Amino acid sequence: MKLKELDAPGYERVVLASDDATGLRSIIAIHSTKLGPAAGGCRMFNYENIDAAETDALRLAKGMTYKNAAASLPLGGGKSVIIADPRKDKTPELMQTFGKFVNELAGTYYTAEDVGISVEDIAEAAKFTSYAAGLSDGPFGSGDPSPVTARGVFLCMQVAAKYGLGTNDLMGKTVAVQGLGHVGMHLCAHLHEAGAKLVATDINATAIEEASSRFGARIVDPDAIYGVEADIFAPCAMGASISPGSIPQLKAKVVAGAANNQLADENCGQLLADRGILYAPDYVVNGGGIINVAAEILKISEQAWVEEKVIRLADTTDQILSQATTTHALPHIVADQWVDNILAKA
Ligand code: NAD
Repeated sequence: MKLKELDAPGYERVVLASDDATGLRSIIAIHSTKLGPAAGGCRMFNYENIDAAETDALRLAKGMTYKNAAASLPLGGGKSVIIADPRKDKTPELMQTFGKFVNELAGTYYTAEDVGISVEDIAEAAKFTSYAAGLSDGPFGSGDPSPVTARGVFLCMQVAAKYGLGTNDLMGKTVAVQGLGHVGMHLCAHLHEAGAKLVATDINATAIEEASSRFGARIVDPDAIYGVEADIFAPCAMGASISPGSIPQLKAKVVAGAANNQLADENCGQLLADRGILYAPDYVVNGGGIINVAAEILKISEQAWVEEKVIRLADTTDQILSQATTTHALPHIVADQWVDNILAKA
C-alpha cells in the first residue's frame, strides 16, 4: 500500500493511493477543512488516466466545500475517485483497501457513495475505517440519501417558482423532469402530489413506465425534453445538461433540479439569464443528500435535525434568488459569493 502526496495549489491535501495486491488506484482530494472534516462521496469510474481522475477529484472536492457550506453543515469539502470499471473491477478487497487509505487520513476526510459506488461497497470500506458514511446499518446509518435530496429539490423549486413564475404554488404548472432515477422519481412523487403536470424522460424503459403509470407523466424522447412546453425544467440525470446547445431550446422559465454541475460552462448562467430563465444554483438545491449523510457523520439521530436543515436550503435559495433579482446578478455567482463569505469568516 502506497500513499503519495500530489501537488495541488488551493487544496489542503491530495493523495494518490495505490495498492498492487488489489489493483487499487485512487485519488483522495481534500479541498477545505475550514468548516469541519471534509466530506464527499467516492466515485468509481474508468478514467482514461490518472490525470483525468485527478482533475475530476479536484473539481468534485471543491464542489463539496461549496455544497456543504451552503447547507450550513459543519463539514468541509473532499471527494475521492477510484480508477476502475464498476461493472468489472470492483471487489470487496479493493473497497476494503480503499477503506484502509481513508483511515490513514485520520478523520480529515469522510467518504460515502457516489456514481459507481453502492451502500454495500461503502460497507466493505467501513470494515477498515470509521470515516465512512451512508451505511444502511448501525445506530446512525442514514441509508439512501435520494428521498431527502428530492424533498430539498422540491422545496427549493417552489421558491424558484416564486421568483421565476410569480407563484410558489406548483398546482397546474408543468415540470419537465430529465432523469427518473433515485432522485427524479421521488421528485415526481412530490410534484404529482402538489398538482403539477409532468413531462418526463429517461433512457431506462422501466423508469419511464413507472412515471407514466404512477404520475400520469407524459413521456418524451431524451433529446426532446429541452424543447417541451413547460414552466420548469428539472435536470435530474447527468451534469452539464444546461449547455449552449440546450439553452436555446428551453421553453421553461425556471431551471431547478438535482443534477450536480448542471451548467456545462461558466457562460451558461449568462445565456440562461439572457433568455429570461431563472437558474436555481444546483449545489444549494441538491444539498438534501449530504445533509442526510452528515447526520450519520455527526452522529445525530434526530430526523428533525435533517428536516430543519433541508427546510433551510429553501430559505438559502430564497435569499440567493432575492439578492440576484434585486442586484441583477447571476444566481450561481451570488451563491458562490455567499459561500466565499461563509468561508472567509470561518
Ligand atoms: P440515478 O443514476 O439513480 O438516476 C439518473 C437517471 O438518469 C437514470 O434513471 C438514468 O437512466 C437517467 N439518464 C441518464 N442519462 C440520461 C439521458 N441522457 N436522458 C435522460 N435520462 C438519463 O442518479 P440519482 O441518484 O437519481 O442522481 C441524479 C442526479 O442528481 C445526478 O447528477 C447526481 O449526481 C445528482 N445528485 C444526487 C443525489 C442523491 O442523493 N442521489 C444528491 C445530490 C445530487
